[in-house]
Amino acid sequence: MTRAAANCPICRKPAAPSSKWAPFCSARCRTQDLANWATGKYFVPSPRTEADEYWDVPPDSSDSTDG
Ligand SMILES: [Zn+2]
Repeated sequence: MTRAAANCPICRKPAAPSSKWAPFCSARCRTQDLANWATGKYFVPSPRTEADEYWDVPPDSSDSTDG
């Protein structure tokens, strides 16, 4: 028991490593995975919904001196 059969990340079915659609079991699951990325399903939802909070920079700028 050295080789563990990889399961399809979409439907959790055993997928052949030498399969054309590896690591997926079929073209459908492969497409589904791409769709998940496209729709941002894999991205963790941010607590902030506003886009203006994208730049989360600390206001502390005393590190640099004007000289
Ligand atoms: Zn699958």
